[in-house]
Amino acid sequence: MPMGITHRTINTFVSVPLTGMGYLQLHRTTLECAVFLGGYTFATFLMNPDLDLESDGYKSWGLMRFYWWPYQKAFAHRSFFSHFPIISTILRIVYLLWLPILLLYFLGAAIQSSVRETVFDWVPGAFPYLIFLVAGMMFSDTLHFFLDITSTNLKKLLHFGKHRESFFEHHGESKRGRGKGYRRNSGYGWRNTARRR
Ligand SMILES: [Zn+2]
Repeated sequence: MPMGITHRTINTFVSVPLTGMGYLQLHRTTLECAVFLGGYTFATFLMNPDLDLESDGYKSWGLMRFYWWPYQKAFAHRSFFSHFPIISTILRIVYLLWLPILLLYFLGAAIQSSVRETVFDWVPGAFPYLIFLVAGMMFSDTLHFFLDITSTNLKKLLHFGKHRESFFEHHGESKRGRGKGYRRNSGYGWRNTARRR
């Protein structure tokens, strides 16, 4: 895979023309473009598809990285659920929200009703911006996905056909793999237990 620094650098360079196009060609407002860029940057540096392994994005969460530990254990690297565009972004958003929602459930009726009132007050006005936020995240994750595919295909090309791994079988984490260094990983593929980057 491209290293985390490569993903971050390319995504950052692409963000400039992408946001500029939204502003100049699609005539979006400055605030809409800023929210889009915020979602895009958040997905590039913190909530990216490579949270399924001990990547730069995973480490960037600092002490909060424990939050993503079950996610990392649940999905093999480059599994469909952690990398496929749109679907993987939605799954990460759902995963991010599960603990706050669970906490809210235990905080009692008074706090729940005040949160409900705040949500009903704010969401109708903020909804269009939420769309831009999520769209920014999806664009970032889609670019990540295509960079991973490009790097896999380049490896195949450079190895003149000897590199037979498909995209979802990258890094020796073949779903067919049964060799040394593999263990079953929650039904979503085979995780390589050998040293990983
Ligand atoms: Zn990746």
